[in-house]
Amino acid sequence: MKLQHIGIAVKSIDERLKIWRGVLGLHFEMIEDVPRQKVRVAVLDIDGFKIELLEALEEGSTIATFIEKRGEGLHHLCFEVEDIEDMLLKLKQQGVKLIDEVPREGASGKKIAFVHPKDMGGVLIELTQK
Ligand code: ZN
Repeated sequence: MKLQHIGIAVKSIDERLKIWRGVLGLHFEMIEDVPRQKVRVAVLDIDGFKIELLEALEEGSTIATFIEKRGEGLHHLCFEVEDIEDMLLKLKQQGVKLIDEVPREGASGKKIAFVHPKDMGGVLIELTQK
């Protein structure tokens, strides 16, 4: 198990990249629109660890609502696990509130699932399988 990436909700990826990439000098990996989730994602890499900058593509989308309520900021942590189904089962058995009881398909066809912030110290957790 490892911490694979963190997601940060931002109002403007272009604006934030000026600092994250331009000043901090983080390696820019890629940018893509994920219309299904109404989000634009820019990925920065630090020695294999990734930072996702998340910008809403539409009002009323998850990221737009998040920023409206809480402002820009840390949106989620993503843990890479060996067996995502097994981990979801373990969490469920402990009574942890899950957003996805069954994994869904994330970027580049990987299995992902979200765990509700309620039982996780107020932070949304994404799980991904190796
Ligand atoms: Zn993520």
